[in-house]
Amino acid sequence: MLKKSILKALLVGALGMGLVSPVSAEEVVNVYSARIDKLIKPAFDAFTEETGIKVRFTTAKAPVLLERLRYEGRHTEADLLITVDAGNLWHAANAGVLQGVKTPTLSTNVPENLTDPEGKWYGLTVRSRTIVYSPERVKPEELSTYEALGDPKWKGRLCLRTSKKVYNKSLVATMIASAGYDETAKVLENWMKNEPIIHPKDSGVLKAIAAGQCDVGIVNTYYLGRELKKNPNFPVALFWANQEGRGAHVNISGAGVTKHAKNKANAIKLLEFLSSEKAQNLFADENMEYPVNPKVSASSLVTKWWGDDFKMDQVNLRFAGRFQAMATKFMKRAGYK
Ligand code: FE
Repeated sequence: MLKKSILKALLVGALGMGLVSPVSAEEVVNVYSARIDKLIKPAFDAFTEETGIKVRFTTAKAPVLLERLRYEGRHTEADLLITVDAGNLWHAANAGVLQGVKTPTLSTNVPENLTDPEGKWYGLTVRSRTIVYSPERVKPEELSTYEALGDPKWKGRLCLRTSKKVYNKSLVATMIASAGYDETAKVLENWMKNEPIIHPKDSGVLKAIAAGQCDVGIVNTYYLGRELKKNPNFPVALFWANQEGRGAHVNISGAGVTKHAKNKANAIKLLEFLSSEKAQNLFADENMEYPVNPKVSASSLVTKWWGDDFKMDQVNLRFAGRFQAMATKFMKRAGYK
């Protein structure tokens, strides 16, 4: 009941903001976005300029948008959902608020492993969640895999973000998909034996390494990008994990057409546009992410990181969702807070 009243208040808020407006002859597409204005607006403006289709959007946290889509059901005004992490997109697909869409343009622009097999969501940008270290106290030769961070040599030297964050749930879920249940449970146990310092944010992990509180950690690449943008001498370096094996974990920001989209054709046009060469850099560069479209090159710092020899985990990201509940259970059992 309480939930419903909160959602009702949100809906009334949306009406007030003008997201939900009377029907007009004008071509529109309505977007619910968990990505902030700064990251999406330039690409939306370029879309409107090219197609004449107006983009109306509202931003909120991913779980709020998902709840709202569920509550609104077929009455929703949203045509497209944009959010981060395949775990979130999988949840949305699983909750029945997205519909499968397949077009030749989308299958050319977005690699298969970054796409839902039923076309309910598509990756738009790629980020890796990989190992970071202090180049002052650690030699890169000492590093190899996520699993090896459980080695006793890292006792008291490891910083991790809280297991409550979807990014870590997805990392562990894809580890379950690749390495299996037993191996993953063992890895988590070993990490915990090293008594990691748990931080609420990736930026906290980076700052802790810079400040000497710990020597190694795991973060999303763009957080390091942001620190380096502010200070090119920020004393933390990036290490691509598991290059001899399955590759470093990658995740996406992505989008899917809503089940009850009233402007479905326009939503597909926008999705195609966001995956196009023209929009990809507008979309990816701003947050130091990597474009999904293989024909597009990234901003110079990101290109420097993601050299030709970078190996990404090819596991289909739907497993980030499928094994998410299990990942959460495993982390809890290992005592990973
Ligand atoms: Fe993030």
